[in-house]
Amino acid sequence: MLLLNILLTGTPGVGKTTLGKELASRSGLKYINVGDLAREGQLYDGYDEEYECPILDEDRIVDDLENQMSEGGVIVDYHGCDFFPECWFHIVFVLQADNSVLYERLETRGYNEKKLKDNIQCEIFQVLYEEALASYKEEIVHQLPSNKREDLEDNINQILKWIEQWIKDHSS
Ligand code: ADP
Ligand code: MG
Repeated sequence: MLLLNILLTGTPGVGKTTLGKELASRSGLKYINVGDLAREGQLYDGYDEEYECPILDEDRIVDDLENQMSEGGVIVDYHGCDFFPECWFHIVFVLQADNSVLYERLETRGYNEKKLKDNIQCEIFQVLYEEALASYKEEIVHQLPSNKREDLEDNINQILKWIEQWIKDHSS
């Protein structure tokens, strides 16, 4: 029985969902996309006109996830992490992509100019990495490059090894 929980975070477009789904299918952990969860449950609290997106109701998200998180065995994917209880996660991965790579991915998504610029700045200033360091113990926060397909494969293998070790350390 796996009890560990993993957080995948980083600027939109860095590859959280791609990694999270693949990792889930190869590890047996359950994948939860917080954006999708919010959409399905309409867990919103207003609309952000500037960014053209709904504002998450963070308290309801946390309430909604509480049981699954305490059961464990979950991979959570979200471009934010400061509102989750610290005790939920055993390890936090912050994915990172080069500006040019990220720009192309976000442009493909049809982001407006402001959203595009702000997200690139978010990546340049390592906003999500700083947020993760401020929210979790430094030793459980790890940065992962996410530019190329080989990065994806390397990251999956690295995380699978870590999971294996974690299970060894926490069994008996
Ligand atoms: P996020 O969930 O962080 O917003 P996605 O997983 O949706 O990011 O990935 C954004 C885009 O980048 C997708 O088109 C995906 O196929 C591509 N992508 C993700 N990871 C990689 C990678 N390691 N190498 C190349 N392309 C990637
Ligand atoms: Mg995603």
